[in-house]
Amino acid sequence: MLSEGTKKFLSRKKFIFILVKGVAVFSLSPLYFTRLVEAMEDPNNLDFMEAQTNFNVSLDVQRISANRLLLTSACSPAGDIRYRFDVRVMGSGSSYSMIRNYSTNNSYTWENAQDGTVYELVAHGISDQGAYNGCYVVFGNTSPSSSAPFRGLSMQVNSQGNNVHISAVPQGGTNVIYALQYRPVGGQYNSLNASNPYQISPNFVRQLNYGQYEIVVHGIEMASGAMAYYGAYTSFNHAAPPPAAPPAIPVTIIDPGLVFSGALTPIREPIIKLIQHHMAHPTWTVHDVHIYHRDTNGWYGIGYNYWIAKNGQIYLGRGLNCGAHAGANWNSRTLGIGYQGHFEQESMTDAQVKSGALLNAKFLRDNKLNLSDIIGHNDVSATACPGRFFRMAELRQETERVLNTYK
Ligand SMILES: [Zn+2]
Repeated sequence: MLSEGTKKFLSRKKFIFILVKGVAVFSLSPLYFTRLVEAMEDPNNLDFMEAQTNFNVSLDVQRISANRLLLTSACSPAGDIRYRFDVRVMGSGSSYSMIRNYSTNNSYTWENAQDGTVYELVAHGISDQGAYNGCYVVFGNTSPSSSAPFRGLSMQVNSQGNNVHISAVPQGGTNVIYALQYRPVGGQYNSLNASNPYQISPNFVRQLNYGQYEIVVHGIEMASGAMAYYGAYTSFNHAAPPPAAPPAIPVTIIDPGLVFSGALTPIREPIIKLIQHHMAHPTWTVHDVHIYHRDTNGWYGIGYNYWIAKNGQIYLGRGLNCGAHAGANWNSRTLGIGYQGHFEQESMTDAQVKSGALLNAKFLRDNKLNLSDIIGHNDVSATACPGRFFRMAELRQETERVLNTYK
């Protein structure tokens, strides 16, 4: 049985309806009841929304004919429930009109609907325990034959630079409107445009920080006789694009076609140093050194990995195979760069400094080494090599300049 207070409340013919999301329970004391009525008349006064419990109201709308809509509400938990229906034209901005006042009958056929109009419909439920809730539905009262049925929604998401591009892909439906929500994992959902969340275009673009996101697209068919809603969800990794590769360091390496007397062994260990040498001979070329190392020393061929002539031309020696230039402890994890000339007697040329810087810069960068990893033979062995006139400080300085130029 309804209390006297509730009956009085239900008998009121004029009050502004508020759509309540969530659940309200109010005691039926006269003071509390007064506050409820005040709240119902002032949509901003929601103070009575306390002591919440579960009481849910649903609304199903069916088109019977062009002007007749069947409204059916249900409440849970069930009980002695009174139902009321209100309506307004969507987008009109007008107040809601009552279709039918509170009644124990949970369904009602509204005979005054206009064909082709989109309505906002609200069902209200109030229990004899004083629990209240409402349910809101957007319903397009349009001939079902005038539009393809909206049967589902999927989405496509991809990163384009900082932006995430999201496209809703409807299955069927001709007048679907869309809304987007997204959140970083563990965060709060955001709307693309909170003040006007729905849009006609199925395409969304949003600039987002890189990271993992949950994205939801909502679609509502606005024109079909049977109102349809679908949503689609995806978890999307908005990954930063890989950093652009730095420009290549312009090193030209001439292959002199040296013939080795045995198979060379590729360097398999990480390269840790770039060791500079002079040949300690004023004129010998890469071919002269190759023949000397192979035929006099009995090695497979030239011991250096690369060779730089006085004119600055860079030649391929052993390349990225183990060299024979600094002893067994170093040959398998360093590169040996030999320079034409005798730098105990003469200075290395400007062209050699320039080319040496390009070649050393390339290998420093390739192997993630530092300027201090450019060393002389005499840093690892008791030898005069690469000679007291080797321009080590300038070589490192020029190498640094090259690295800064091509980063
Ligand atoms: Zn040396």
